Amino acid sequence: MRKHIFNAGPSILNLDVLMEASNAVLELDELGMSVLEISHRSPEFAHIMNGAQDMIRQLMGLDDSYHVLFLQGGASMQFCMLPYNLLDSKGSAFYFDTGKWANNAVKEAKHFGTVNSVSSEDKNYCYIPERYSLQGNEAYLHYTSNNTIYGTQVHKIPEVGVPLICDMSSDIFSREMDFSRFDLIYAGAQKNLGPAGVTIVILKDSLLGKVDRQIPTMLDYKTHISKNSLFNTPPVFAIYVCYLTLKRLIEKGGLEDVEKANDQKAATLYNEIDENPLFVGTANQEDRSKMNVTFKLEDDSLNELFLNMANEVGLAGLKGHRSVGGFRASIYNALPLESVNVLVETMREFATVNG
Ligand SMILES: *Cc1c(COP(=O)(O)O)cnc(C)c1O
Repeated sequence: MRKHIFNAGPSILNLDVLMEASNAVLELDELGMSVLEISHRSPEFAHIMNGAQDMIRQLMGLDDSYHVLFLQGGASMQFCMLPYNLLDSKGSAFYFDTGKWANNAVKEAKHFGTVNSVSSEDKNYCYIPERYSLQGNEAYLHYTSNNTIYGTQVHKIPEVGVPLICDMSSDIFSREMDFSRFDLIYAGAQKNLGPAGVTIVILKDSLLGKVDRQIPTMLDYKTHISKNSLFNTPPVFAIYVCYLTLKRLIEKGGLEDVEKANDQKAATLYNEIDENPLFVGTANQEDRSKMNVTFKLEDDSLNELFLNMANEVGLAGLKGHRSVGGFRASIYNALPLESVNVLVETMREFATVNG
């Protein structure tokens, strides 16, 4: 039986997408070949790649002044690729240090230029800092829209007069936003879009060509722009599954509809966390994430008991990250409301038995 999959990443994919993908592993579109066997230079793959790029622009309301790249190395590679291309020793950049991934991004950027930042590490990253000030001449501001581990999310796009860059790995395509405010957006696919192995980078030309250094070919955004992500062999299958997920997202009503569904899932779970006497949320109320819900038991010694009970009813992936403890329910786009309802019922049952 299929479980209720709350894994943080890689994470749940839509079952229809999985079925279509598994058929294509045997044979893609009556081609007499598997999707794993086609050339990345074939017309079939061009159709998949161009289709995925167009759907990304369509969902985000972006015109073709934005390039859409499919790269490898994970979101973590972007932590260095980005400052390699955009920050040099003459310049500075501003970072929000709001979690483990954000902090990794800060550390990498420091190899390339001056980095100023505002941090919420003082309270174990349970909030999004509100007060910070920029000089105004920064090469860019970088932030993480959703902090996957700590369960916080930035609900309002920062108003700054410098290019805006965002790591959207764990909430891309989960809500409507004015994406045209950003100059560069990146996201590893394995949280809300597809399998592990591909990272989406969406960027404007106007950002490039400003640093004074040689950039290795594979790390230069211009290489991948000029070759439309086909400089070397891209991860064909991972891109194909993203393509299927995007197609489904559009068919089901796009970001407006998925946001409504996500809001309902998050509200259902946070209500229970706030009303159940045994559980407590770990993130600041107004900064709570609608993708990764972090919570714990007031009495830590009951943790194993709860996880066992959850396991028995098919709830998977709820153990919290070691840096927060407790539990984390990742409720990405593909997770149905029904799974959240089962989790909520289990929390109630647990309170009845142990309260
Ligand atoms: C998971 C995650 C990353 C790291 O992604 P990799 O693809 O494993 O490098 C970076 N940023 C955020 C916000 C994440 O959730």
